[in-house]
Amino acid sequence: MGTRLDSPEAQAAEVVDRLSVEYPDTTISLRFSNRLELLIAVILSAQCTDERVNQETEHLFAKYDGPEEYANADQEELAEDLSSITYYNNKAGYIREACGIIVEEHDGEVPDTMSKLTDLPGVGRKTANVVLQHGHELVEGVVVDTHVQRLTRRLGITEERSPEKIERVLMELLAREDWQDFTHLCISHGRATCTARNPDCSECVLEDVCPSSKLDSEVDLASGEAW
Ligand code: SF4
Repeated sequence: MGTRLDSPEAQAAEVVDRLSVEYPDTTISLRFSNRLELLIAVILSAQCTDERVNQETEHLFAKYDGPEEYANADQEELAEDLSSITYYNNKAGYIREACGIIVEEHDGEVPDTMSKLTDLPGVGRKTANVVLQHGHELVEGVVVDTHVQRLTRRLGITEERSPEKIERVLMELLAREDWQDFTHLCISHGRATCTARNPDCSECVLEDVCPSSKLDSEVDLASGEAW
């Protein structure tokens, strides 16, 4: 029997508490060894799996070293190096242009503010939040990816649909110290149990507080449609 707690704040806190027990070591799954590699991996991860990005960046990071090399790379060659990634041509262009700006305007360093990061091609608020959190240890917002979008709606934490609005809601509801972990907890649970097409509600640690639970709800609140 899934019933949401009385307030969205209580519901969000309960989700954090229970998923923290379930996934105590959850963190970013992209592989990188410096801020530039992190930025590039996150740009590549848009609409692509982290697993695929990790496969491709293994040889990419061995081949190119530092922003100058990416900025001066041949567009076609760099695109070819990324060819298993979705939108590889566009992403190769973003990486070359972003690295050009990093060299020319930021002394070769990945910027550490939201506005300077989002001025880079291919970098939206979500990418910037990830780079700030994992590259600079600055938590300025909540990263809202497809798993966070789906789970927050399914669990009755918000009815908003756009990542920007969901982020604003979460920044109000969650304790600030949970902003970073909340994303990784949702990603872990979204991959392991609460998958997009076939969530395993009978095995879910949130079942009794989830208003979308397939065990007693006809409707998936993430899509608003019948299961
Ligand atoms: S797996 Fe089912 S019960 Fe658990 S959060 Fe997802 S929809 Fe709710």
